[in-house]
Amino acid sequence: MRCPFCTANDTKVIDSRLTNEGDQVKRRRECVSCKERFTTFEVAALTLPRIVKRDGTREQFQEDKLRAGMIRALEKRSVDSERIEASISQIKKQLASCGERELAANVLGEMVMTELKTLDHVAFVRFASVYRSFQDVSDFTEMIKSLQKQ
Ligand SMILES: [Zn+2]
Repeated sequence: MRCPFCTANDTKVIDSRLTNEGDQVKRRRECVSCKERFTTFEVAALTLPRIVKRDGTREQFQEDKLRAGMIRALEKRSVDSERIEASISQIKKQLASCGERELAANVLGEMVMTELKTLDHVAFVRFASVYRSFQDVSDFTEMIKSLQKQ
């Protein structure tokens, strides 16, 4: 692992621990040359399906994009980031285990909504309102009602 500060090739691991329910290994490293410290995360390289968008174009699943979307929906809501990360891991597990090489974007969208629903109802409605781009207001009202019943 190259040092991001001085680009020396030799760095040593000074601490290593599991994070995120054991899905990640977090390592603290120190550069042998300049003694700067930095953190790396190690995750299993899963083969995730490509996402087929509504217009038919395909793209690689982008975890950062997913995270950004969820964080936007959760803005000013009191959900700690560990729970968000756990949801993201859950979605990735589902993607990895679905056995498909390609997956429609709306299937991914439904997975995100299922997770948001367990995290925070307001975030769920925010996301769903954008995502499902409601046909009319009654759809939206129906969903709010069904949430209140729960
Ligand atoms: Zn260095």
